[in-house]
This record gives sequence, C-alpha cells and structure tokens, in this order.
Amino acid sequence: MDAVDGNAIGALLIDVFGTEMTAASSTCATCGASRPVAELVVFRRAPGTVVRCRTCGSVLMVLVRRMDVISADLSGLADLSPP
Ligand SMILES: [Zn+2]
Repeated sequence: MDAVDGNAIGALLIDVFGTEMTAASSTCATCGASRPVAELVVFRRAPGTVVRCRTCGSVLMVLVRRMDVISADLSGLADLSPP
C-alpha cells in the first residue's frame, strides 16, 4: 500500500476542522513525537484514510467519509494545535 504525506489530505482536513490543518502541530500519543500534519504518513486505500506517526507507526487519525458525513477518530493524538 503506497503511503503519501499529510499534504494529500489537506482538503479532507479542511472539511473536518473548517480550517487549513497541514501546518498544525501534531503530537503522537504513543511516542510523543511532534511534527506538522503535512509530514505524517497517510494511507488512503485503507477503509477510510489512516494517518500514522512517522516515528513509531502508530495510528494517529482515522477519517471515514460516508455520504456527506465525515467520521474522525483522533484518539491516537495527544495534541493537535493549529499553526
Ligand atoms: Zn509515534
């Protein structure tokens, strides 16, 4: 499965958060690594979009679009701060 980076889900994140989030700072709840969302590892062919930590590989976000509703599981994040 080919991974892309967080820039690939910029539009999806705008739909979820209502603002540009690729420059937001994310903190992994598993290893504590912090980096901009643009640098996270994104898998788009999973059921929904899976965003993983580039340091430890833990799942940080799962985003599923169903009809006009987007479900967002952010439980893998310790923090997500707008730029
Ligand atoms: Zn991590």
